[in-house]
Amino acid sequence: MRLADSVALRLRSTEYDRWMHNVASTGYCHNPVRLVGESTTFNGATGEVLAEYASRSEPDGITFTRCGNRRATRCPSCSHEYKGDTWHMIMAGAAGGIKDVPETVTQHPMVFLTLTAPSFGAVHTSASVRRRGTCEHGMPRACQCAHEDGDPRLGDAICADCYDYVGHVAWQYHAPELWRRFTIRLRRELARTLGLTQRAAARMVRVQFAKVAEFQRRGVVHFHAIIRLDGVDPVDSYPAPPVFVTTDDLVTAITAAVSKTRVLAAQLPGEKKPRDLRWGVQFEARPIIRHDGLDGALSDRAVAAYIAKYATKATEDLEPTGGGRDHIKRIKSAVRELADLVDPDGPYGLLHRWDRMLGFRGHFSTKSRRYSVTLGSLRGARRAWRLRTLLKKTLPTDDMATDDVLVIGSWAYAGMGWLTDGDRALATEAANAAREWRSERARDRQPRFTERSTS
Ligand SMILES: [Zn+2]
Ligand SMILES: [Zn+2]
Ligand SMILES: [Zn+2]
Repeated sequence: MRLADSVALRLRSTEYDRWMHNVASTGYCHNPVRLVGESTTFNGATGEVLAEYASRSEPDGITFTRCGNRRATRCPSCSHEYKGDTWHMIMAGAAGGIKDVPETVTQHPMVFLTLTAPSFGAVHTSASVRRRGTCEHGMPRACQCAHEDGDPRLGDAICADCYDYVGHVAWQYHAPELWRRFTIRLRRELARTLGLTQRAAARMVRVQFAKVAEFQRRGVVHFHAIIRLDGVDPVDSYPAPPVFVTTDDLVTAITAAVSKTRVLAAQLPGEKKPRDLRWGVQFEARPIIRHDGLDGALSDRAVAAYIAKYATKATEDLEPTGGGRDHIKRIKSAVRELADLVDPDGPYGLLHRWDRMLGFRGHFSTKSRRYSVTLGSLRGARRAWRLRTLLKKTLPTDDMATDDVLVIGSWAYAGMGWLTDGDRALATEAANAAREWRSERARDRQPRFTERSTS
């Protein structure tokens, strides 16, 4: 059937309104899960039936539920919701005042940290570098092109023969371990900065963080993190550290930990010695304060929004349209070539799984246990809220606690996606309209933060 006919068929159907209502209730998901089945809602205490629901009462006899994919390229609508959750989680830890996290956390020493990878060879950059001369292949040693923003060559190796693709992959593969060692080192350096033993320091101050990974144009991750110092208290979840612990102490400790952290990576096939992996020399640790202020300090809200922006990033974002850049392809093939050479049970044994991620096997966002609320608790809260809304519709006078409600159902998977091309086109159009409406409303409330290029 032609797309126009398939659209027309849905538009003319008597169930169109009901169908569009269902599209909206998936949050305009692009690739929803199709389910068939039924469920009954009981009062758990009395056994009274509160509501009955079956997919056979829906248009086409199908119940749609959102895919929940966090990647914007797979489902812009679901990734938006995930991003919202991450935003709330990161925000709560930096600004408090929402979801059980007290506003007093804004008084704690807090720093916005950016950690980068070292150089693996000269790349095209937006800042032109004054370094003269050419390599043995006759290529310039530094970028002197004065690229405009959006130039597809930005981040590409200037000389692919000189660029250390193996070193790039080895570093990227170990980046999560480098981060883990950094957090351990940071506790040590903090104790030293405060003039305490590690044990004494651990009794009065705790390091909490939320971090996200972001791919740079050159195909290597860097990390953005909010690092906050808390005190130690058996009852209070977010206690303040002792007053003598300052933001300056935190910056001093971070600076020392960044320069001292290293991972001695296992020897690669054909190489004479293990690689000594470290952070790049470009790093940034800026104090976060309650409001935009003097001395280049950042506001809590701006930082949280900036960090949360990266929660939905994936490697797909790296590749401009048109089949991908040669530089990124070279990194992928370096991953595959190495994976073929290494012992599958050895330290690089998992490398073959990560060529799409250019060797990076970490999570895109992580946090320490007590940084803030968990994503799971936000999802739980949203589910409970939806259930309450549903109950309110069926039982207008009921104010029963959601704990008393028991849902018994029997459901089967019936496929993915909207049923026809026409349905998908209508759902996408509705999603775009909803997003436009949301962003218009949000525009005035957005915190502002100017992105700075590192690398
Ligand atoms: Zn979806
Ligand atoms: Zn250039
Ligand atoms: Zn060269």
